[in-house]
Amino acid sequence: MLELIDKLYKKNYLEKEQLLYILNHIEVYGKDHLIKRAHETRMKTYGNKVYIRGLIEITNHCKMDCKYCGINIYNKNVDRYRLTLEEILICCELGYRLGYRTFVLQGGEDSYFRDDIIVDIVKSIKSKYPDVAITLSIGEKSYESYKKYYETGVDRYLLRHETASRRLFEKIHISSSYDNRMKSLLNLKEIGYQVGAGFMVGIPDQNKEDLAEDIIFLKKLDPEMVGIGPFIPHRSTIYKSEKSGTLEDTITMLALTRLYLPYVLLPSTTALGSIDPKGREKGLMAGANVIMPNLSPKSVRDKYALYDGKVSFGYEGAESIDCIRSKINSVGFQLDMSRGDNIKWRTNI
Ligand code: SAM
Repeated sequence: MLELIDKLYKKNYLEKEQLLYILNHIEVYGKDHLIKRAHETRMKTYGNKVYIRGLIEITNHCKMDCKYCGINIYNKNVDRYRLTLEEILICCELGYRLGYRTFVLQGGEDSYFRDDIIVDIVKSIKSKYPDVAITLSIGEKSYESYKKYYETGVDRYLLRHETASRRLFEKIHISSSYDNRMKSLLNLKEIGYQVGAGFMVGIPDQNKEDLAEDIIFLKKLDPEMVGIGPFIPHRSTIYKSEKSGTLEDTITMLALTRLYLPYVLLPSTTALGSIDPKGREKGLMAGANVIMPNLSPKSVRDKYALYDGKVSFGYEGAESIDCIRSKINSVGFQLDMSRGDNIKWRTNI
């Protein structure tokens, strides 16, 4: 086991069978070593920096029917909202004053936000704050729409693949197509975005082989960012009685991802912070190097409830920058307030 982890550390690659061996045996033996090697890798690539993004949840309207998600179209208990351009700009102003230089605009797949509206939002932010990076995360769009956003100035796009297993993907989605999700990620890469893929850990019926497939898929796609978080049930979905993914399994997947993709921007996610009060710090200690506190207006934060117990205040609130900084320092890292691009992007590393 230790030799396999060291081989991965040196070569940033293992075959799927060897990866599966690690996944099947890691809990008994090797976990500390895996985390240590992931940490060393991150220190070699990004040092002890932690990049920070202000997350603005622009809408909780969604036309999609992802079975696990609390804002899916069938959930009639959601108090739906959409932010106006003015509200989004107020969030950016607050974030900019606090020192944030990346804004992540995320939302459900909301037909109200036509391309011209998105273009208008992006242009408004970029004209006021030309030195910020904008990340968009509004789901599957056509090649032409992705291209339009990119040409307007969007720098990065997050679209988790959710699971690389076709069987599992088709089980947890009703109308989304596995092929279209994969095609969308390839389109984003081709257009030139810094692309974020990612997956949930502990999805009902997910097995170790599915998780191994996630890593092998990521290695092939070579995204600039990867979002990994535990699945957490939402009380109004059919998975309401299922168990959450665990902190332990999520940490293992973060560490493995760091070893396969040494240069990737890897958030220690809100979902991880939501299942364990020390989840964020534990993620950072296992190779993660990004955090995305919530910069949405306080009045809507509870409405963007993807799963039960999602935290968005205190340490998860963008306004708590001093508290965030001191927590990060307490585990040996330094907050980096720059745009925080992937250092390999557009280089030949
Ligand atoms: N609509 C965009 C999309 O699909 O990419 C962005 C919004 S979507 C709600 C953001 C992410 O939330 C998804 O990629 C998914 O991984 C995560 N998510 C949704 N429901 C979740 C749950 N029950 N537990 C953990 N993560 C969840």
